[in-house]
Amino acid sequence: MQITFHGAAGEVTGSQHLLEVEERRILFDCGLFQGHRAEARRKNEEFAFPAESIDAVILSHAHIDHSGNLPRLYRQGFRGPIYCTEATADVATIMLRDSAKIQAEDARYLGKHLKRGHPPIEPLYDDEDVDGIVGLFETIEYGRMRQIDRDTRIRFLDAGHILGSAITELDVQEAGVWKRVVYSGDLGRRDSPLLHDPQPIERCDVLICESTYGNRLHPPARDIKQELRRILSDAVKLEGRVIVPAFSLGRTQQLTYFLNDLFNEGKLPPIPVYVDSPLSLRLTRIYREHLSVMDAEVQRVLEADPDPFGFPWLTYIHSGAESRALNDRHGAMVIISASGMCENGRVVHHLAHAIRDDRNTIALIGFQAEHTLGRKLAERRPFVKIFDHEFPLKAHVEKLDGLSAHADANDFRWWFEQAAQRGGIGQAFLVHGEPEASRALADILDGYCDEHPIIPARGDSYEL
Ligand SMILES: [Zn+2]
Repeated sequence: MQITFHGAAGEVTGSQHLLEVEERRILFDCGLFQGHRAEARRKNEEFAFPAESIDAVILSHAHIDHSGNLPRLYRQGFRGPIYCTEATADVATIMLRDSAKIQAEDARYLGKHLKRGHPPIEPLYDDEDVDGIVGLFETIEYGRMRQIDRDTRIRFLDAGHILGSAITELDVQEAGVWKRVVYSGDLGRRDSPLLHDPQPIERCDVLICESTYGNRLHPPARDIKQELRRILSDAVKLEGRVIVPAFSLGRTQQLTYFLNDLFNEGKLPPIPVYVDSPLSLRLTRIYREHLSVMDAEVQRVLEADPDPFGFPWLTYIHSGAESRALNDRHGAMVIISASGMCENGRVVHHLAHAIRDDRNTIALIGFQAEHTLGRKLAERRPFVKIFDHEFPLKAHVEKLDGLSAHADANDFRWWFEQAAQRGGIGQAFLVHGEPEASRALADILDGYCDEHPIIPARGDSYEL
């Protein structure tokens, strides 16, 4: 058995890990590399292996850095099954269609800046490739062992990271001996809203584990619901608007779920709430179809309220014209809109409209990467540039932490302890982390494994 790390090795994007067992070639995830345009393009264009040589893909979850290059794999000849949970298949279908649209826009943008004589830039993939790849999804329920051929079986456990996310237990038979390979995908936190805690794994021979926040401790989760209530009450008093930049997948549904809870408890200040992102609306529909895989708290809410993502004061905005019309409305309101770091999407025009008025509030949720508009707002710079104009930052800025979708060092330690109590871990590999995060997690993990954990570089292969 051999494993080769083709992406998310020493970095956090482009997850692709190839397992070869005798004649079988199984790919864990097929993520898009994100980052610097030209470099990402080069890594995404060509796979390190012939696409048609892959027998099957196992997709851990629908985030684009894990799923986003699947249509390219199809374009280059892959036609095997893609095993994932049903929720992942549904979410990935929407995310990949959206990604194809972004690919087309990117190719157009790059095309405009080409030197004379340069051949036109083709998108990495188009709608037809997405249609092809989503036809290959084969779904497996959480907890059910599926025999996919005589020598291979798969079981998904809940990773608690986003809707549908799975930890994979893959049992493979080689020369008459069964071995278990576990792939964590992205591991969630304990006590996240909507989602189950990550499930513990049984004894495994090989563990491939993410390490994004292996060197961090998340701040203790503040009570986001109560923070929201305070911010909204202030907005009602001031007759101001609250702009909440939020990722369409996961974060927006968590927020609307908290607001819905406050409404049910009679604690939501009287304020209209708008969710203004077409992608969020499509994804929320999928969330509504998969309520049964959410945590016990959601099941309790459902006993009295069939829709935890909707209440009378909440409106989902469809068209661009409706979105712009929000500018002309007066009085207090909340606008939840993408993207989460304020780099693109409709939230940018809402920010440009709201930023100069000190009655308004910008509520930032979670990590804001360097050089993004979100980071500049988080730093409360006196002036920020939006659409090439300098705007004075007069609106209040609130930072709501505690909704990270990734395990921190303590969550990992707990998960490794659980594995140790259930038979332990043989050889571990740490992927999906910046080098210092992976090294810090290796120190923690070392105590729970038979061998020292390995941090592979991109392209590294190991015989097991
Ligand atoms: Zn993820």
